[in-house]
Amino acid sequence: MIDQGQAWQAVKRRDRAFDGRFVTGVMSTGIYCRPSCAARHPLRENVRFFADGQSARAAGLRPCKRCLPDDVGRDEAAVMAAVDEIRRAEDAPTLAVLAQITGYSPTHFQKVFKRATGLSPAAYARALREERAREALSAGYSVTGAIYEAGYSSPSRFYDDTKGKLGMTASDWKDGGKGRTVHWSVIDTSLGSMLVAATEQGVCCLSFNEDEGDLARRFPEAELVEAGEEFRDLFRQVTAAVENPGQATLASIPLDVKGTAFQQRVWQALREIPAGETRSYGELAAALGNPKASRAVGGANGANNIAVLIPCHRVIAADGSLGGYAYGTQIKAELLEREKSR
Ligand SMILES: [Zn+2]
Repeated sequence: MIDQGQAWQAVKRRDRAFDGRFVTGVMSTGIYCRPSCAARHPLRENVRFFADGQSARAAGLRPCKRCLPDDVGRDEAAVMAAVDEIRRAEDAPTLAVLAQITGYSPTHFQKVFKRATGLSPAAYARALREERAREALSAGYSVTGAIYEAGYSSPSRFYDDTKGKLGMTASDWKDGGKGRTVHWSVIDTSLGSMLVAATEQGVCCLSFNEDEGDLARRFPEAELVEAGEEFRDLFRQVTAAVENPGQATLASIPLDVKGTAFQQRVWQALREIPAGETRSYGELAAALGNPKASRAVGGANGANNIAVLIPCHRVIAADGSLGGYAYGTQIKAELLEREKSR
């Protein structure tokens, strides 16, 4: 049985990684929950932890109708079966098909899948195909060859899928962003000098105490120009997000990210950590459905070009200490402090 203090911390964080490892019995209401249940937290003095649903029921408790604590194993099996099907299928299977395979209703299955992977089944299928296309490209296929190799029915389908999300076409990936224009500016903030850069599609870089030279190292083939009037509004929004990190405006700032499907999942998971909260690499890996992937998660975190807007500062060391940060721990500590006191 898990340590009580650790269990209570997991409940307070609504940590999905602990689902299936114990259940939270609420003696005052007679109900037991998953550690991650979205319902309002009970008072600590009313809580008793049980190893599983069976022992909670033996103590006279009923399963919560909201988090369905007895379905953890079934949910995991359903997600694995769906991932298998998506990987195997020629065309991305519809939600209805996946629901039928797993025995859930489409809406419920969508929720279960998203909770486990951070993406809807359709977005997962798209990300998988994009990753395959990129792998084929780096293996030396032509752009068109890579597109078919990855399972797209036509090049236009590929461009439709990737447009807007990544802001870069397949040929850009192959030659390191050649032919692309990156507009940059260095702005004074209360955290120090901030380098911000964007393409027409969105912000592609945010860093501290860096200059044009650092930008050139990140985008070696792109054309770098000082940002003009047309980027003023966007950069003003970015500055506001840095001065008040964790505000709702974050989601409205378009990003132009360049990364593998796995990296994008990690970045998405980072954006889902509520402002004012932190996670360890291990917890993040578990939230992505693969507790053993914490080193890979660390690598994806480090490959992130966009500080603050993809909040990699919310990842701390497993022992609860601050851990490292690309732009120095002082900035990291300040960002977390601002989010906490928001
Ligand atoms: Zn519950």
